[in-house]
Amino acid sequence: MTDLTRLTAVETAVAIRDREVSATEVTQAHLDRIAAVDGQVHAFLHVDPEGALDTARRVDAGELSGPLAGVPLGLKDVVVQKGVPTTVGSKILEGWRPPYDATVVKRLREAGVVILGKTNMDEFAMGSSTEHSAYGPTHNPWDLSRIPGGSGGGSAAAVAAYEAPLAIGTDTGGSIRQPAAVTGTVGVKPTYGGVSRYGLVAFSSSLDQAGPCARTVMDAALLHEAIAGYDPADSTSIPSPVPPVVEAARQADVSGLTIGVVRELSGEGYQAGVQQRFEEAVETLTELGAKVVEVSCPHFVYAMPAYYLIAPSEASSNLARFDSVRYGLRVGDDGERSLEEVMSLTRAQGFGAEVKRRIILGTYALSSGYYDAYYGQAQKVRTLITRDFTAAFQQADVLVSPTTPTVAFPLGERLDDPLAMYLADLATIPSNLYGGPAMSLPAGLSEGLPVGLQIMAPTMRDDLLYRVGAAFEAARPAPVPPLSWEA
Ligand code: GLN
Repeated sequence: MTDLTRLTAVETAVAIRDREVSATEVTQAHLDRIAAVDGQVHAFLHVDPEGALDTARRVDAGELSGPLAGVPLGLKDVVVQKGVPTTVGSKILEGWRPPYDATVVKRLREAGVVILGKTNMDEFAMGSSTEHSAYGPTHNPWDLSRIPGGSGGGSAAAVAAYEAPLAIGTDTGGSIRQPAAVTGTVGVKPTYGGVSRYGLVAFSSSLDQAGPCARTVMDAALLHEAIAGYDPADSTSIPSPVPPVVEAARQADVSGLTIGVVRELSGEGYQAGVQQRFEEAVETLTELGAKVVEVSCPHFVYAMPAYYLIAPSEASSNLARFDSVRYGLRVGDDGERSLEEVMSLTRAQGFGAEVKRRIILGTYALSSGYYDAYYGQAQKVRTLITRDFTAAFQQADVLVSPTTPTVAFPLGERLDDPLAMYLADLATIPSNLYGGPAMSLPAGLSEGLPVGLQIMAPTMRDDLLYRVGAAFEAARPAPVPPLSWEA
């Protein structure tokens, strides 16, 4: 019998619909797979076999249907699911069980998608390696001694290690795309406002966006369509129809499109092997019939500094809610200490070093006397970056770059060097500041490790990512991980 964990989401859904296999069997196969390999990969923080099998049974009973009914999925632990522990990779939320479902979860449930459990991540989604998780790092299935990217390394690793064909990630500065690049999977950050943020634990509200992780472009498109769309519960949700991403993935054709190579997002600072794969990818797109031009986005070089003022500023405000009173951890509440002392002890123990660094950075950038010089200045840079995108999209339909400057680096290598860690998102941050959609998909190997191609599109043209991505994928199929560590 075929190994059910090796099927794509599309193949799985079709097999279930045609009654070749039951959703319960598919779910059990993935639960078994998690039990067999997650001790080594550590993609999951919490597995929910009862919840998963319950959904599967409802699909088998014909109560739930749709294009992804019965397909298993890993949910990044930043998305709340009613009654299921949600930690956001932090000790401060240990033991918290949310009383409601995020809109994304509600849509997945209605679609009959089987949520297997919660995936590992850097604490509060701050990081590029999952090493800032309070529950230990995730390991890259291509090489267990290397990082799976972050913050959504658990979601990407789960998909790469065949623990789930699909996963949900969130991307504030690259946390879906960078993990996708270094694990050889497909990851998409939708247009800001395209997917509801209701029920996402907020990091940086003007940047956070949930999106799909998958092994194929079509699988990502189906998941994208399942979770996207207007939601009155999110004030920044866009009240227009979801771009036709599944249709675009089916179209898989670049002819007539102009593709812009962003001068500032390759070359110096990018590993030779990454640069080489990128140039080959551009060649492939040319062969497929696209017109390729070079575009310049001069302010992109300031994207990272602007991000590291804006994101921590918003985080310092958002994370104030973890006050020892409303959620999770409470330290030192002995009846003698003041509320302020308990708050301070709780936050000192509950937050890890990177989260504290961001809170301090953001509080400083917002403080009176510095606000204009830091936060205000960063917002102006954000506007200039948006203008760069607008100008570039007059010359090209989509833009391309390597997703990351390097392949997966060894665990531990950048832990003592925050700046080196931040550099992993050099090429992904601009799309977050602008709000447009972007995809990372596999573009071959360097030193035996995956390299990602990034495609960026104008806001609400998520369909273009899938059209170009699917064409590229058909010409250059994704490499398959050797998984040589498996017994
Ligand atoms: N790595 C970036 C950061 O640490 C982006 C994180 C994200 O997208 N959540 O902020």
